[in-house]
Amino acid sequence: MQLTYRQIGKIFDVSSTQVQYWLIGRKVEHFTEKPERCEICGVKYNKLNHHHWDIDNPRIGLYLCPGCHMAAEAIDKIPEFASIYLLSKEARELPARHRKYEDNATKAA
Ligand SMILES: [Zn+2]
Repeated sequence: MQLTYRQIGKIFDVSSTQVQYWLIGRKVEHFTEKPERCEICGVKYNKLNHHHWDIDNPRIGLYLCPGCHMAAEAIDKIPEFASIYLLSKEARELPARHRKYEDNATKAA
C-alpha cells in the first residue's frame, strides 16, 4: 500500500508540504492551472475540486464541480456506473409507462 503525503502527514501530525520537504526536499509542483469552469459540465464554480485517479500521479487530474466530482468518483469505483444507472432508471419508469399505455388503450376502446 502506498500512502499519500497527506496520509503520512496525519501520522506525524505535520502538513503534507512538510512531508514533501522531508521526502524530496521541496514542495511538489502544483497541478495544472485551475480553470474557472468545471472541466466536464462547464459550470462556473469557484471551489472546483481536483479529481485524480492514480495515487502515483496525483497531479494528473481534472478540476470538477461537486456534482461531476461525485459522478467521476462513482465511475472510477464502478466503471459500468453510467450503464447501470440508465438501465435502473429505465426499469423504474417502465411500470408507469406501461400504465399510461394501458390507460390510452382503454380510452381508445
Ligand atoms: Zn461539473
